[in-house]
Amino acid sequence: MEVLIGIESVLFSEKKSSTYKFALISALVDYIIENPNEYPQNGFHNIPIVYLAKQWLYYYYPLMIYGEKGIKQGPAQISLHKIIREFVEKQQDKSFSYLTPEAILKIKEKIEADEILDKELTSLLIKIRYQIIDQPLQYIKIASNRNLQEELTSGVKFKEESFALFGLYNNTLLSGELEDYQSIRSKSTAWKGKRGEMSWFELEREETLFIQMGHYTYRELAKSRFFIKDAIIKRWLEYSVENYLQNDSKAIYALFNGLNLHKKEPERETLKMNKLRKIALQIFEPMHCIYCEKEIKSFDLDHFIPWSKYPVDRFWNLFPTCKSCNSKKSDKIVELEKKMQRRLSNYLRVWLSYFKENPEELLILGGKEAELLEMDSLDKSIKLIIEQIKGINNDLI
Ligand SMILES: [Zn+2]
Repeated sequence: MEVLIGIESVLFSEKKSSTYKFALISALVDYIIENPNEYPQNGFHNIPIVYLAKQWLYYYYPLMIYGEKGIKQGPAQISLHKIIREFVEKQQDKSFSYLTPEAILKIKEKIEADEILDKELTSLLIKIRYQIIDQPLQYIKIASNRNLQEELTSGVKFKEESFALFGLYNNTLLSGELEDYQSIRSKSTAWKGKRGEMSWFELEREETLFIQMGHYTYRELAKSRFFIKDAIIKRWLEYSVENYLQNDSKAIYALFNGLNLHKKEPERETLKMNKLRKIALQIFEPMHCIYCEKEIKSFDLDHFIPWSKYPVDRFWNLFPTCKSCNSKKSDKIVELEKKMQRRLSNYLRVWLSYFKENPEELLILGGKEAELLEMDSLDKSIKLIIEQIKGINNDLI
């Protein structure tokens, strides 16, 4: 709970400080979404700054292409747009236009397939990294400070100040060696690693500067990661767009889509859904509708927490339904009364035992093996997600 309050206070304080703060927290949450069960080292999680740079590229690229009309921004954000624009102008590849918002999908694909990245792209990521070090990070405490280390690992307020969520950490320095931003900055701004043609994996491995987060905070954020991500997106839009609900500027969609990129991969998702349908047909036999319990003649795989409110195709949110119940339910949230809860748990057990026996299929479907451990308390998690969705004013998610 302290962690959620901490996030809220970061998002609300100093509103004039541009959108960088939102971008920083959003990227941290993306990391946690990708690695919800990461094992800590000495009680800490180290999130590479260049990883944050990659996420920033995803957020700001579509916005840069659509133009910034309707979006509030400060001078620092304009300089980020300049960096991206220079990259686009340098691209000589005539067979492909980098001047469409979709271009970021191609860039993302390249990065995530771990292909060798060209010089321009690595240099772009490194430039965004500098921007991150210079802008939001100067307000972050230095993790090698001993008092802060205690606070980060225990998750308890150390002094009078507010609860610390994370600190800045350079892994080439000894603990306690440097305790102020200027000195850690001078040790970190020069990119020590190789430049030029290298894969994303190599690039990330050469990072020496990290956001260091205690396991307590990490675990708390991991529990409600999607909820937090959605809350950040909503706050970001509220902050940066005047009357965003009435405003139909393309830039808003660009910002929204850029922020949501990690969630939406339409083509791959269809393949995943087809595969999940095949597995469901095999394991839920004989097949009964999760809502009316009648035997199913014509089968649908329903997102229990509706896709429109929680756009994730994970097996633990997908259940067989008859056509009629599925269309009646539409995108409503179903109440989890006792009977429904019991049915849900039974169906979940079937999914779980399948994926525990076939973990490689879970990986193909974009899941993580660690997800299976977490699933033991899965019905509780689903309940929590539903409460969270209901709890926020979710006109955008
Ligand atoms: Zn039914």
